Amino acid sequence: MEIISNRILQMSESETLAMTQIARELKSQGKDVISLSIGEPDFNTPEVVKEAAKKAIDENFTHYPPVPGYADLREAISKKFLRDNGLEYKPEQIVVSTGAKQSIYQVVMALINPGDEVIIPTPFWVSYKEIVKVAEGKCVYVPTKIENDFKVTPQQLEEAITPRTKLIMFSSPSNPTGMLYTKEELKGIAEVLERHPNVFVMADEIYEHINFEGKHESLAQFPSVKEQVITVNGVAKGFAMTGWRIGFIGAPLVIAKACNKLQGQVTSATCSIAQRATIEAMLMDPTTSEDIINMRNKFKERRDLVYKLLSEIPNVNVRMPQGAFYFFPEVSAYYGKSYKDYTINNSTDLCMYLLYEANVATVQGSAFGDDTCIRLSYATSEDVLIEAIRRIKEALANLK
Ligand code: GLU
Repeated sequence: MEIISNRILQMSESETLAMTQIARELKSQGKDVISLSIGEPDFNTPEVVKEAAKKAIDENFTHYPPVPGYADLREAISKKFLRDNGLEYKPEQIVVSTGAKQSIYQVVMALINPGDEVIIPTPFWVSYKEIVKVAEGKCVYVPTKIENDFKVTPQQLEEAITPRTKLIMFSSPSNPTGMLYTKEELKGIAEVLERHPNVFVMADEIYEHINFEGKHESLAQFPSVKEQVITVNGVAKGFAMTGWRIGFIGAPLVIAKACNKLQGQVTSATCSIAQRATIEAMLMDPTTSEDIINMRNKFKERRDLVYKLLSEIPNVNVRMPQGAFYFFPEVSAYYGKSYKDYTINNSTDLCMYLLYEANVATVQGSAFGDDTCIRLSYATSEDVLIEAIRRIKEALANLK
């Protein structure tokens, strides 16, 4: 008999984290590796947030918090949803968890019975499909096209929905493509949902503040489908707080209650100190907060730089992302080519080649469901980006 359960055996490791780990190990062996693998802002957490955490310790916020999060934190998140997204979620509709990843996990576990179909537009963030697999749901992939900025169309969703469809996994700004859905495009999706009131959407908005086009648009803004949408967000990306592990949902009450029940059996609640600090982050208005605006501006400068540099590489098909901090260029023109002992047949081969030959860590597109592309995170300084792309260009030129 196997020691490990089938559930875990059939699950893949997180490729974003795996690539980052390999890069860390190579660095610790003295290799000059540049990591463009993990999506993590290189900025520090805002001072007011750090001060709030220190104060929380001094004030002895060191006991178990309520399972869904402190009442005043959920109040602050409720106000944030209204201020930034025009969404009304009462504090009891909000559950604070250990990162948006746990929030997504709980939503899927709360909704999915074995065999339920979950629609996942491709490319998708690596953990969506693994979380659905753990819940024994059936992943139904809907491929999108680079020419369409990797966006799923209402018609594609309509065609993918069956009587067994329970959930759609959706993100805007998107990881890994960096694309944004406009209000009009979201309306098109909402119209599909209106026709299928038993289908829910997990709307992942973790990159909300890294949006170079203007106002963030939430799917839940359309009243006719609000009860079908679970809005997921957190502080990791927009507030440079990856290590604090705070995510949250705004959801129909029955779903929030189910997530709360699960969380009570799994983590009891998330870290009291991180929660107190998050109240300060929630008070920061993205239209006036210098921390948020400066970070976004910096990411925009880097995005423009990386776009220019990647566009200069022959046979790399690159689209201009409008948000998040990723590029997802199509690189399949290099498949079938070789250099030294390397032969490139897919995105994993190419990423390994770039890692060991060019000392640049990226993530293979296959991890996101599209083997023709690779993902680069540009959440690092301009000097480093220039050097990384110089190395990538050189390594690609060697492939014959
Ligand atoms: N979400 C980030 C990424 O895609 C962090 C790593 C992870 O959790 O996958 O790189």
